[in-house]
Amino acid sequence: MKVFFVLLCIGLALARPEIWDDEALQITVEDARYFEGDIELPKFRNAIRYSSGKWSSGVVPYVISSSYPSSTRSIILQAMLEMESNTKHGSTYCIRFVPRTTEQNYIYIHRGSGCHSKIGHQGGQQEVSIGTGCERKGTIMHELNHALGFWHEQNRYDRDTYVTVHTSNIDSIHQHDFAKHTTHDMNTLGSPYDFGSIMHYGAYTFARDKSQPALSPKPGKANGVTMGQRLAMSTHDVERIQALYGCTRDTSHITRPSTTQDVVNCNFDSGLCNLAQDHADNFDWSRRSGHTPTSNTGPNADHTNSAGSYIYAEANGHHNNRARLLTPTAPAGQYCIDFFLFQHGSQEGSFQILASGSRIREQAVKTIAGSQAAEWKHYRINLNVPASFRAILQANIGSGNLADVAIDDFSFYHGRCL
Ligand SMILES: [Zn+2]
Repeated sequence: MKVFFVLLCIGLALARPEIWDDEALQITVEDARYFEGDIELPKFRNAIRYSSGKWSSGVVPYVISSSYPSSTRSIILQAMLEMESNTKHGSTYCIRFVPRTTEQNYIYIHRGSGCHSKIGHQGGQQEVSIGTGCERKGTIMHELNHALGFWHEQNRYDRDTYVTVHTSNIDSIHQHDFAKHTTHDMNTLGSPYDFGSIMHYGAYTFARDKSQPALSPKPGKANGVTMGQRLAMSTHDVERIQALYGCTRDTSHITRPSTTQDVVNCNFDSGLCNLAQDHADNFDWSRRSGHTPTSNTGPNADHTNSAGSYIYAEANGHHNNRARLLTPTAPAGQYCIDFFLFQHGSQEGSFQILASGSRIREQAVKTIAGSQAAEWKHYRINLNVPASFRAILQANIGSGNLADVAIDDFSFYHGRCL
């Protein structure tokens, strides 16, 4: 009777489970800004993880909506290929995404509202929404992981050992996105809690006040791992697919995000990396964790997981002054500059990225002026520079104390923005 009851519960939970994601909305222009977490999302439905809803033989038939431009279709296919390749054991595939021919059960990838997916195999056509702003490979891999049968990491029944959920900073309509599973409706397959999972929310996902985290690691638990990354599947993400689909464990095929082309890649948790303070300015950038000294300007915590550090230019005592940081010199070529900016306050000046070199007149390639929303904002700039140059991070403090400028997770790398 008890077994029957549990199975009934699972059956009910599996009826129409669906996950809605608060993934980044982005404008895909040369100079892109990501909107993190501004999407109004309907309620998500409960479901199970791991123990059921598998695709037979690991084969997921798909249809991709014809409304996507070829560039987006290409990113979706790259996400599928990377997941297939990551989870190979030896030369054998563990999961495959195959174009649907006559299969009854398949995923339909289309431009719905936001980024969301059903959990696991449902039967019939099931939608995976890759809406506007979701067209990044990592976000697509996250949604396809849902379709394979996986939940969000922070919903694990053991998550309270690892993260604190700041319930007061989450709107009531999103409280259930942080609900815990129980041992009855999920199985961790013995896999440890993984802050680096592509299935983990970021610190500010669904935060009501975006200057404060909705989720933060317990002290000493994250060990510097970025929470909420959407660049690549983690080792545990791969192991779990292999475990769920009965494949031999083999993590030797995982594609890692390239870091070999970086000029700068700094989260400021242990210093300024290879950035240098300029001596031709008025004052220095500072490194800090937690909130800045003046209220109503500056962030309350760093961008990635609220436990690390960021850099900021203090407005108090520096009105109408500027602070500059210099990158190393890079050869001519195509580059991406990617960073998060927190620039909120009633007396804000501006933040600029400048380029300068022996054959490059110093010039602003990006200026963000005035008070922005009270949250970390993502910026990406594609640059093509015809001669060697260095980039300059320049804070131009405004007229009063309410003008702090903060930067986190700054990267400057060869190639176009990922
Ligand atoms: Zn999700």
